[in-house]
Amino acid sequence: MSSPAPVHVTSFYRFISLSDSQVEELKSQLERFASESELLGLCLLGNEGINATLSGPPSALASVKVLLNEFLAVSDLVYKDSVALKHPFHVFRIKIKNEIVTMGKPGFAPASPKNNHLTPEEWHEAIQDPNALILDTRNDYEVEIGKFKGAKDLKIKEFRDFPEALTTDPATKAVAKDTPVLMYCTGGIRCEKAIMEMNAQGFSNVRQLDGGILNYLEKFPDQGFEGECFVFDYRVAVDQQLQPTTKFKLCPHCGQPANKSISCVKCGTHVEICNHCVDQFAVTCSKNCAHHVAIGSGSRRAHQQELNKRHKV
Ligand SMILES: [Zn+2]
Ligand SMILES: [Zn+2]
Repeated sequence: MSSPAPVHVTSFYRFISLSDSQVEELKSQLERFASESELLGLCLLGNEGINATLSGPPSALASVKVLLNEFLAVSDLVYKDSVALKHPFHVFRIKIKNEIVTMGKPGFAPASPKNNHLTPEEWHEAIQDPNALILDTRNDYEVEIGKFKGAKDLKIKEFRDFPEALTTDPATKAVAKDTPVLMYCTGGIRCEKAIMEMNAQGFSNVRQLDGGILNYLEKFPDQGFEGECFVFDYRVAVDQQLQPTTKFKLCPHCGQPANKSISCVKCGTHVEICNHCVDQFAVTCSKNCAHHVAIGSGSRRAHQQELNKRHKV
């Protein structure tokens, strides 16, 4: 049996001011295109612009890029291309959103696509500066499986916690406002808003990694970044060569990276779950088994209480 052809994937975003009618028009053009091609993926679209990951045959991806470049009238949109062993998506879907990356501040979007970006080469140089604060803007469970050497993070659960955490977390709370800050995320979009928030809070020397970790690893595998990079699709994470991880599975309880092998106490299935859920859900393979174990012990207790009552009567 020959192995299946790899699936082509492209991720991109663009902050660009779109009117409601432009949003509607682009939505219908993309939906029409997807229905006539084998394009799949998820597109977040709104007045702030577009943020998407698409997969399909190379010809469909090439055509949709032409459509987007023409509609948005841009020629410098950065498409981060990769391959996967299977489609990261089952359908093509467009979601209309107030924010194309959620910080809880709609309209808080960069006016220009170039706002203190560093190319991977410039970044690689800049992170050698011992006085720089390398700041990871991602969530705690992403940082846990990989980050830049010496990077600090704000231990946030989701990106909308970033503005508040900036004022309370020791990593940034007492730091001089003119400290050189080098910030990064997975593909760059979170830093676009994070850098504006930092500037609004008075930080005056902040730069961001253009295209994020994924762009850096393309040029510098096995160097400044350590571990693996979490991605928000079935691959869970990619390694230094941008290949799907072989270390982590998705935890069936919480959807975060998991590498602890267990045998389910309820049904015996072997799965990987994450370290946090081992404590929280006993050693079970699924939400369903966790539920049964939980009500099982509950009902045994209730049953025993019932028996005790009857004895007294
Ligand atoms: Zn978990
Ligand atoms: Zn089970």
